[in-house]
Amino acid sequence: MKYDILIKNGKVIDGTGRPGFFADVAIKGKTVASVKQNIPSSDASLIIDGTGLVVSPGFIDVHCHTDWSILDGPWDDHQERQGITTQVAGLCGTSPLSPEEHFRDVLQGTGLRTNYALMVGHGTIRKSMMGDAERAPLPDELRKMKYLAEKALDEGALGLSTGLIYAPGTYSATEELKELAAVLRRYDAIYATHMRSESDAILKAVDEAIEVARHADVRLQISHIKVILPRNWGLGPEVIRKLEAAMKDIPVAADQYPYTVTGGGFYGPSRLVKGWPVENRESDPDKESESFARFERDFRAPKNREELTSHVRSLLDERGGPRQFIIVRAKTQRIVGMTLDEASDALDAPAEILCLEEILASGGQFAMVYEGVYEPEMIEFMKRPWVMVGTDGVPGAFHPRTHGTFPRILGRYVREKNVLSLEEAIRKMTSLPAETFGFSGRGRIAKGFHADLVIFDPETVTDKSDFVRPHAYPEGIKWVFVNGTAVVKEGQPVDAYPGVPLRREN
Ligand SMILES: [Zn+2]
Repeated sequence: MKYDILIKNGKVIDGTGRPGFFADVAIKGKTVASVKQNIPSSDASLIIDGTGLVVSPGFIDVHCHTDWSILDGPWDDHQERQGITTQVAGLCGTSPLSPEEHFRDVLQGTGLRTNYALMVGHGTIRKSMMGDAERAPLPDELRKMKYLAEKALDEGALGLSTGLIYAPGTYSATEELKELAAVLRRYDAIYATHMRSESDAILKAVDEAIEVARHADVRLQISHIKVILPRNWGLGPEVIRKLEAAMKDIPVAADQYPYTVTGGGFYGPSRLVKGWPVENRESDPDKESESFARFERDFRAPKNREELTSHVRSLLDERGGPRQFIIVRAKTQRIVGMTLDEASDALDAPAEILCLEEILASGGQFAMVYEGVYEPEMIEFMKRPWVMVGTDGVPGAFHPRTHGTFPRILGRYVREKNVLSLEEAIRKMTSLPAETFGFSGRGRIAKGFHADLVIFDPETVTDKSDFVRPHAYPEGIKWVFVNGTAVVKEGQPVDAYPGVPLRREN
């Protein structure tokens, strides 16, 4: 046979941004072998009917945290189910210290269903040298940190990531970041930053990011770009202006997930009630029930109840009021999915009292999410030609972005809201990230390119995950190929591991 797989009669959107066209796509081995009209069916062993479907390059997720969980296995297939064929992990300052060891462990363990690349985290490097010390590194420590960054780059890391709101990244001064980022220049590697602020101090944080990248003379990637808190809404255009002005000197780009709730937007009892242990994987059931008992007592005592109430009231007010909160878990089922002000009307109770009573009634299970991002401002970022897509995915977390990011853009923001043309959206998911992160031979459909492909229905593609069901898989993604092998077939996952580690190429 001339070809292994032939996709007939689909609309090819090739990733470059040019208008879609009707053609057949033939795959031989791991490569796209031909893209033209009327390739005879007799030339291939497997024929896929693409009538009514779009054939696009596989999506590239430039921002995820898969490295946190990939070695725990089994492979979690939320990536390929939304059309992702390449993912970049190690962001926000946290990564494996040695890409080489990590890739080896992954290939010996769960294997790879998508291609997989890594950044090296500044936080990880810093922690390995100086723990959680809240001070500048000594000259010798800094020298060793640079050495570790170089070692990771030599092993194939694409660049350096920072997470400047997290410990220990937050303890570093701009000078330290400049020193470390300067290591990247020799490798022509990328500097990706979770900035020091996405909220009140965002403009200063943007200046710092530009200063670091400009000093190092390297490519700047702003991670999960957004402006948080209603009092800061409206700063978006100034963020854009600053970044576009910096493009005169250095290449600048960003990534974004299409949600108005951020990773810090979960408000269970630990955020609403002082002294409640923080909700996380290690949270201690004994401490939880102890906190609940104390809460129950306080809530019944008029004096403490007033303090509890005023705390919740000021917390809500500071975030734009009850209308910014959506209830995702409650004892009263009919308020699940409502905004807090809707629920407050429906139950005829003040919002802060409603929260506390629901915490009590649900045994501490009540939870809301907070919409800290203004959708029109998010859309302004989305429209910029240099903003690509990153899930910021954390497997197992409460946020639906891990399962829904790419289909949500294709459904909500392309088909429903016409924010982007389909061709432009796909360019942002494919050739733009491939060129920015240096994946040659990927991100486009053309003869000789790697056969990373997605076939989807543009009329039905949509995300199904939300804050009530964050782990629901999207719809409309029909076939996904990684290096010529199907990992999704007719909408269902296939038990195949054709992904490869992608190392920095230059
Ligand atoms: Zn981050």
